[in-house]
Amino acid sequence: MPKKATNTPIQKVLAKVRPAWIARVSQELARGMEVRADFEDQLARFFELLEQSITTGDPAWMDPILLDWAKSSTETELEEEPYHVSYLINRMIALTIQVSRETLTKQEALDLLAAVIPIYTYGLEVVARYEMETRVAHISSEMEKVQKRMERVDRSKSAFISVAAHELKTPITLIEGYASMMDDLMQQGRATSLDGLLAGMNTGIERLRSIVDDMIDVSMIDNELLQLNFQPIQVSQMLSALSLEMEPVLQTRKLTIDIREFDGSKEWIYIDPTRITQALRNVIHNAIKYTPDGGRIMVDGRRLSGFIEVTVADTGIGISAEDQTMIFEKFGQLGRVDLHSSGKTKFKGGGPGLGLPIARGILEAHGGSIWVQSEGHDEIRNPGSTFHILIPARAQSPDASMSKLFDTLGKKKEKNVIKQDDASGIDV
Ligand code: ADP
Repeated sequence: MPKKATNTPIQKVLAKVRPAWIARVSQELARGMEVRADFEDQLARFFELLEQSITTGDPAWMDPILLDWAKSSTETELEEEPYHVSYLINRMIALTIQVSRETLTKQEALDLLAAVIPIYTYGLEVVARYEMETRVAHISSEMEKVQKRMERVDRSKSAFISVAAHELKTPITLIEGYASMMDDLMQQGRATSLDGLLAGMNTGIERLRSIVDDMIDVSMIDNELLQLNFQPIQVSQMLSALSLEMEPVLQTRKLTIDIREFDGSKEWIYIDPTRITQALRNVIHNAIKYTPDGGRIMVDGRRLSGFIEVTVADTGIGISAEDQTMIFEKFGQLGRVDLHSSGKTKFKGGGPGLGLPIARGILEAHGGSIWVQSEGHDEIRNPGSTFHILIPARAQSPDASMSKLFDTLGKKKEKNVIKQDDASGIDV
């Protein structure tokens, strides 16, 4: 900064202390060598404004650099390390005293401190106010987010109660109907063939059980109580079992399912087969439910590093971008109650909206994940959806005792085979 003709002694003192001050503050406060050069420029600017404030007697000259520094500590930094510009200024005060003692005479040092301390104090006030305001704004926005989330959970809870009540009511009405028909037949002494009625009742009971089971699963996942029983299995075994299970429904709905063999599908991995099958079942059931009659479902996959990825693609109604994350959240996606028809595989049959949250809970408990890709929701064009399921490919059970047990069982089995072969006289 060009010096004015009317130099006051304090300006001379400032000029004398300046190089040592910049060097010391930079050395002490710049974290890495690469930031030091930039930091020295900042300190030079600070020093110039300090000089300007002292000359004019107006500390507000410091405002631009103080606010720049305060703003550059982002909200996250403020959260982790609050008041870090205040800390910087406090350190600068201490270092100014040190440098003054080393480079100035006693009188010069006293003059300098008398001039700079009020400016530093002002700086501390400005920065503390700014940092406090930023913190308050940050906390308020966090609170707003929490409140919005709570409101959504609240709305979803009441929606869930309506849907669950409706879902439970339908099978109960079914059971009541069959029970009353059976009663009538008994009264009339015509209770010879109750098979059909009993089958109807059983359907209602099965549906009730499955809804109640889903509710229990969700609460176990929520409370992290889901216990996994790790056993070795191939993904292809689970998919074949599911394909058999779905056959009647696929025929009724005139849907075709194409389950491909892929790299990794025949690999033995340690998972909880019942739970992973349940997750796959929920996804395939949805593919059936949200694909119009005559459509296709393709199950494919690939081996990734540490994981086996299974994809379930359908030619159904698709899922809008905004629903693509919501549907995995408990109570996240609940249609209108009147559209829920209590059909597990009927087209757009609806349900309590727990299938995907359960699938996600099961996969995450294994260390895997699930997500969906879809061009959007369109019931005329049917863009389809593709669910991606990542299953960790563990070669050993995470539960060491379980792994040992299977190893021993495996060895026993091998021994038996050898013994049998011995008995049959075959040379092994
Ligand atoms: P439910 O089917 O019981 O409603 P889910 O948790 O299984 O509950 O699915 C949540 C929602 O995700 C469904 O209501 C549906 O809107 C949407 N969804 C899931 N799978 C598909 C799919 N394959 N195609 C279109 N929409 C789907």
